Amino acid sequence: MDAMPPAPDTPAWAIDAVCEAGRRMDRLGWVPATAGNISVRLDGSRAAITRSGCHKGFMTPADVMQVDMDGKALTAAKPSAETLLHCQLYRLFPKAGAVLHGHSVAGTVLSMQPEPIRFTGYEVVKAFEGQATHDVTIDLPIFSNDQDIARLCRATEPVLLAGAPLGYYIQGHGCYVWGPDMKAAMARLEGLEFLLACELERRKLER
Ligand SMILES: [Zn+2]
Repeated sequence: MDAMPPAPDTPAWAIDAVCEAGRRMDRLGWVPATAGNISVRLDGSRAAITRSGCHKGFMTPADVMQVDMDGKALTAAKPSAETLLHCQLYRLFPKAGAVLHGHSVAGTVLSMQPEPIRFTGYEVVKAFEGQATHDVTIDLPIFSNDQDIARLCRATEPVLLAGAPLGYYIQGHGCYVWGPDMKAAMARLEGLEFLLACELERRKLER
């Protein structure tokens, strides 16, 4: 087996950003059990990310590991399979500085309905890059869930390159959002989860 390449210590700001985001997502009910994963870019070739299987509400610095942009571990811990989806976003979008993945009730339920997840007229879309008005209709791209993450990356790539301003959803599973830093990524996650919760309530009222 190859020796693990040496990696500089994970900076404290990155560990703090990942752990704080985990606690917030846990408080808001978006990472049940050990669901979700959270990362920040360290530089052009490395990211700090939650290790496989940790509970996001109770993370310690040992739950944050380093990976390269191919998802390979640079520090001693097992990366989650979904690490590749984070690396894909960092590779495709050089300005992406943080990526969040959570599993909320509203998103999970809506993503399993036959109709698209479409948002029309919501003020909160202005929280997303490039959105200047509420007077728009935006679809949230939904992809079939797949345990083969490399294949899932191939499915998402053309859609991401064409533009996915709100992020995207994996059906029956969870969302991916990103931003230039953790603060911006969290604001987008909150915006998206607000939209999903509103849309679920709206559909219930329409019955
Ligand atoms: Zn997941």
